[in-house]
Amino acid sequence: MRKHIFNAGPCKLSDRTLENTSKAIIELNNSGQSILEVSHRGKDFDAIMNNTVELMKEILNIPDNYSVLFLGGGASMQFCMIPYNFLKTKAFYLNTGTWSTAAVKEAKLWGEVIEVSSKDKDFTYIPKDLKVPADVDYVHITTNNTIRGTEIHEDWTFDAPLIADMSSDILSRPVDVTKYAMIYGGAQKNMGPAGVTFVIIRNDMLEKVADRPIPTMLKYETHINGGSMYNTPPCVNIFALRETLLWVKELGGLNAMNKLADDRANLLYGAIDNSKMFRCPVVKEDRSRMNIVFVMEEQYKHLEEDFVKFASSRDCVGLKGHRSVGGFRASTYNACTLEDVQALVQAMNDFEKQNA
Ligand SMILES: *Cc1c(COP(=O)(O)O)cnc(C)c1O
Repeated sequence: MRKHIFNAGPCKLSDRTLENTSKAIIELNNSGQSILEVSHRGKDFDAIMNNTVELMKEILNIPDNYSVLFLGGGASMQFCMIPYNFLKTKAFYLNTGTWSTAAVKEAKLWGEVIEVSSKDKDFTYIPKDLKVPADVDYVHITTNNTIRGTEIHEDWTFDAPLIADMSSDILSRPVDVTKYAMIYGGAQKNMGPAGVTFVIIRNDMLEKVADRPIPTMLKYETHINGGSMYNTPPCVNIFALRETLLWVKELGGLNAMNKLADDRANLLYGAIDNSKMFRCPVVKEDRSRMNIVFVMEEQYKHLEEDFVKFASSRDCVGLKGHRSVGGFRASTYNACTLEDVQALVQAMNDFEKQNA
């Protein structure tokens, strides 16, 4: 039986993704070859790559003046590629947690970083009404903070090009792509397996590239011109990502995902807020629908490990908070079902009855 998987990334994927990727690993389209064996320049893979880009454009409503790339290196490589390409003098970074802190660190290698942070309250909220100087090269935000459990729920508007790390909330709601110069993320949170990074980039960003020598593999131009095939792309990961896109489309696209995210989050936050044993440290309006962080009230803290074990005996796995934060985190990405969350809520209620 499948467990109730709340892993933060890599994470639960749809049955369709797992089944069809397994089949393609044995044999791709009656070709007598595995997806692991075919040439990335052959017609089978070419069709997969083109279709994956088309599905991205269709599901996320991406206009024609954007390119969709599938690269290696993870979102972490983008932390370096973004300033390497676009930071000429200064950039604005909203620092809302562990991942944005890592992005700021890379940016500082290339220029001045103007930083607004929620560190003063341990990253439990999202700073709003940002005063961004008119002359920054770009603004960088992290729309969902996977470790801290906060999320920006709207598409913001700035005068400078807006670049967003959407690793952990892409495909969870309709997004107005036209508000962003670039959207990127590791696929392993809501789209597919680890090992492929998606980049949605407005083509005119190539006119804003800094005048410095940039290694070929780290230039966006290389990957846009090469259609993500300048070097060998992560073929099987892209195949699995495409299956996830087909699954999202089948279920009704991003409006359907948005509704599911609300249903899951309302159920779990409701249980946390009604409990005497658990509480959520995040400001209500900024709570993430994808990574639901909670802790035990002080007098129960010694029971934390017991609860993880108890939940595991109910087949709920992946609940330990990030090692830097502690407590618990239930990652409720697209493939997480309401039944998964119901099983967790039942475990929380039963544990509380037994121990409080
Ligand atoms: C997981 C994550 C990253 C890091 O992704 P990698 O693909 O492991 O480099 C960056 N940003 C956010 C918001 C994440 O959740």
